[in-house]
Amino acid sequence: MRYELIGVTKTSLPPLNSYIEKLHDIWTSNQITNNGLLVQKLRHELKSFLDVKNLIPVANGTIALQLAIRGMGLKGEIITTPYSYVATTNAILWEGCEPIFVDIDKDTFCIDPELIESAITERTSAILATHVYGYPCDVSKIENIAKKYGIKVIYDAAHAFGVRLNGKSILEYGNCSTLSFHATKIFHTAEGGAVISKNEKDDQKIFLLSKFGHIGEENYLDIGINAKMSELHAALGLVNLPMIPQIILERSKRAAWYDEYFINSKLQRPLEPKGFDYNYAYYPIVFSTHEQMMAAKIALNSKDIHPRRYFFPSLNTLPFLRTELLRPCPISESLASRVLCLPIYGGLNHSDVKKIAATILSCLTV
Ligand SMILES: *Cc1c(COP(=O)(O)O)cnc(C)c1O
Repeated sequence: MRYELIGVTKTSLPPLNSYIEKLHDIWTSNQITNNGLLVQKLRHELKSFLDVKNLIPVANGTIALQLAIRGMGLKGEIITTPYSYVATTNAILWEGCEPIFVDIDKDTFCIDPELIESAITERTSAILATHVYGYPCDVSKIENIAKKYGIKVIYDAAHAFGVRLNGKSILEYGNCSTLSFHATKIFHTAEGGAVISKNEKDDQKIFLLSKFGHIGEENYLDIGINAKMSELHAALGLVNLPMIPQIILERSKRAAWYDEYFINSKLQRPLEPKGFDYNYAYYPIVFSTHEQMMAAKIALNSKDIHPRRYFFPSLNTLPFLRTELLRPCPISESLASRVLCLPIYGGLNHSDVKKIAATILSCLTV
């Protein structure tokens, strides 16, 4: 028997033949990039699958964030969450803006809307919040604040592929949302991402910026960048997309197994809002103390099981931030010190889930 290490996720690969079949199309057209037929097809299929009007496939989820910031002309301060992957903060900094960290809600792990208003200054241009683990931010409160102050909203929806809230796609909230199609995400193109815009004007601007800022050979209109997705990546997306309902179903089964084992434990789980369809992208658990979390991590690692400390460190403590940006976010810092994301993917055996749960439960008495 082949011995396999258990990681936090396992990249889902389609049957090789189905990918090779798509490659035939590319070899026939002889076009491997520059908004070719497969990228156009993927764009079309993603819009329909995700139930959104405007979507631009791009090279990765980080450049998607940068394009959203650039495309809307954001400057100065951007209010953001300290509890996300580092790309959320880096995109703000890379675009020459300042991340203003506002602490998270202790139950949802998303930015706390009650703390946003007091962080707004005349230099604030936007809120960039993450639907962390795919659980939605308080989108209605955030929308009200944004309207009141005339600022924009971007959601980093890298974890929220296929998530729905109140009968519509989570991606329909805010001015723009961004997705990552990295290999570790539930829908992937190896590397890739997308920008979803509410209005046509932002969509067109971002599309222009994603392809060097020029149209045809003569119209050089703006300072663009190369954020294009290639046909080879789009081909992988086209064969992965039909597998998504099954992938989500398989993950939901593993989540239900964990739920059963943890039902009487003191482990904290993110609060699920009403009217919400989850994608089971992650299975985070929060320990009472950092020591318990580390004990569980070490115990699991010794069995070749590798949960991840998503998300550590709390982004407001990143060592490369200028000192004025280092604002305390006690809830995020505390959560970051106590959280683990457990392995979850189709193909993870029930016996492995049982072993993982038992190992964790045995550490809770420490
Ligand atoms: C994965 C991820 C990104 C970055 O996406 P890439 O496609 O890897 O560039 C951004 N934000 C969050 C929250 C992520 O998890």
